[in-house]
Amino acid sequence: MTALPSSATPHASHPDQNLMDTVARAYALYAQQAGSWIQRFGRQGGTVHCRSGCVHCCDFPVRCSLAEALLTASALSPEQLDAMQRRAHEVIANAKTAQSWDEYFQRHRRDIGYCPLLDRQTGACTAYEVRPTRCRDTFSAMNARFCQVGTLEGLNRREQAEYAREVKANPATDGLSHYIAPLEDLSEPIWSEASRAMQGRWGLEVWGDFWVLTTLSQDGAFMAAVRAGQGSRAIKRARALRLWNAEILEIG
Ligand code: SF4
Ligand code: SF4
Repeated sequence: MTALPSSATPHASHPDQNLMDTVARAYALYAQQAGSWIQRFGRQGGTVHCRSGCVHCCDFPVRCSLAEALLTASALSPEQLDAMQRRAHEVIANAKTAQSWDEYFQRHRRDIGYCPLLDRQTGACTAYEVRPTRCRDTFSAMNARFCQVGTLEGLNRREQAEYAREVKANPATDGLSHYIAPLEDLSEPIWSEASRAMQGRWGLEVWGDFWVLTTLSQDGAFMAAVRAGQGSRAIKRARALRLWNAEILEIG
């Protein structure tokens, strides 16, 4: 996902500053490693198709840790947080009514649409420096049109076979989709670090939808329960806020 940098930085006196610093360090390491991988890939004749302003992947559902969501939230304006909250309720409504993951995924892309942090005029992410892992490690080994909602679903049988052949032939994919697998694999330490940091700080882990967690991270009662290591109390608070759904959130 491509974008322009945001100048916002996390607030220094945040009670979870250490945890956010851990995530920020893991992001920086990933940026270095991914940059080196992309350079090597280019020298070997490979092409990463992502470009600034290319936004088709900004309508995907995004999963992250609460540690990442805290870091994002720490740099958002009140207006952005309001937009995240509206999006969080749309996400929950979708999760409550979708009959399958596929329906949830497709409705998210088609009906809920682009992330509210995307500047639709410029194609820039307005939270670029604090975007979550999934937004950092999504890269395409094939033309960006394959990332656009509806493209793969609209291929006829011949085109599907051609797509499958191209994906298999491209050494940067996992053989199943056109996204660059090694760049996704390289980001795994970010989630391991986040997991360790949450366990160390709170004694529990919180994972799930990016917009819901960013919103919950701003709720004092929810965060008090998390900081006390009380998962059931955190779930109760999320329920009271109408922001709980066990399909898209995990606390424990
Ligand atoms: S090519 Fe695909 S993965 Fe890359 S920025 Fe564009 S939409 Fe996102
Ligand atoms: S935070 Fe939102 S706008 Fe930014 S890259 Fe991720 S999905 Fe796109």
